Amino acid sequence: MEATFAVLPGDGIGAEVTRQARDVVEAIADTYGHSFTFTEHDVGGEAMRRGLGPLPEETLEACRAADAIFLGAVGHPDFDDPTATERPEQALLGLRSALGLFANLRPVRVLPELVDSGPLKADLVTGTDILFVRELTGGIYFGDSGTSEDGDSAYSVMGYTRGEVERIVRLAADAATNRRGRLTSVDKANVLEVSRLWRRVAGEVVADYPGLEYEVLLIDAMTMHLLSRPRDFDVVVTANLFGDIVTDEASMLAGSMGLLPSASLGADGPGLYEPVHGSAPDIAGQDLANPLAAILSAAMALRHSLDLEQEAAAVETAVDEVLAAGMRTVDIAEGATHVGTVEMGAAVVEAVSSS
Ligand code: NAD
Repeated sequence: MEATFAVLPGDGIGAEVTRQARDVVEAIADTYGHSFTFTEHDVGGEAMRRGLGPLPEETLEACRAADAIFLGAVGHPDFDDPTATERPEQALLGLRSALGLFANLRPVRVLPELVDSGPLKADLVTGTDILFVRELTGGIYFGDSGTSEDGDSAYSVMGYTRGEVERIVRLAADAATNRRGRLTSVDKANVLEVSRLWRRVAGEVVADYPGLEYEVLLIDAMTMHLLSRPRDFDVVVTANLFGDIVTDEASMLAGSMGLLPSASLGADGPGLYEPVHGSAPDIAGQDLANPLAAILSAAMALRHSLDLEQEAAAVETAVDEVLAAGMRTVDIAEGATHVGTVEMGAAVVEAVSSS
């Protein structure tokens, strides 16, 4: 297969981790006989330093032309002035809306080798494997908002249309069908009118999937269930705001931000793949970053944008193998000896090449 990847390293550790992800995907191409092309483009603070703004037009065009996009991270303390009109993080919203990326997929898998590295008890989190599907281009983050002239009142509107709910719930139901057949929809239908629409439409969509086990939970209850019975969840679908919060909570189940990948998908066109973590300026340029979240994001690209399931699984197996062999970056080393970003990436490349 021939495919083009637009690589947007961005700020901080972004360049270090996307380099490793790219090497792993090149190893996949060599091993499985594919022809992949990579083009690199400025984004975030790196682009702003060149006077181009957080999301240069050239970068957006390259993304539109690619089969998949690898993003490192955006954001840097140099651009943290809250009064600034331009910020590196604006590139994220720009990419999502320009490419119509309405679905954010975040798998949270607790790896057997790392059950002890998170803050929760091992017997509680062992076997946890959840796919969160968060609505990404609607809801309160995109609704009408304003502040009164005297600055003493403000509002943000949370709205959804039937079509927006239908497409995200259908995507989640399809994903659940391909996984363990369980779907949970999370809302706040006891209080919010918009959630009552969400619940009604979600129920209608799920009626088309009689094989699914379907559960509905309120967001406040979900935050507790996630900590008391995380193993019970398979696919969880929810609105933009609730998804933002609950996926960060779930990241603690996995032990380290350095392990969590994500995908943002639209109805058609390229998907955007990025680690959940940020640009980690505190460790940038020191070969300390864990590249596995970026590498697992690349595996999601192979699965969701190129339909290369076997190759995606090969990357995930390779990651499991290097962890099982005891390799740890500093964030998951728990005081034991650790390897650097480059060595960890090279180990995954080697495991992929011998798969
Ligand atoms: P962060 O995720 O960058 O870092 C949080 C902590 O986790 C830090 O101590 C960091 O060293 C550690 N960490 C993160 N990724 C790691 C990895 N791969 N390996 C080892 N350790 C890792 O979050 P933050 O410090 O709140 O934000 C830093 C910058 O990143 C900010 O400018 C923020 O806006 C931006 N940010 C960007 C994204 C994105 O691009 N999607 C997401 C979150 C934050």
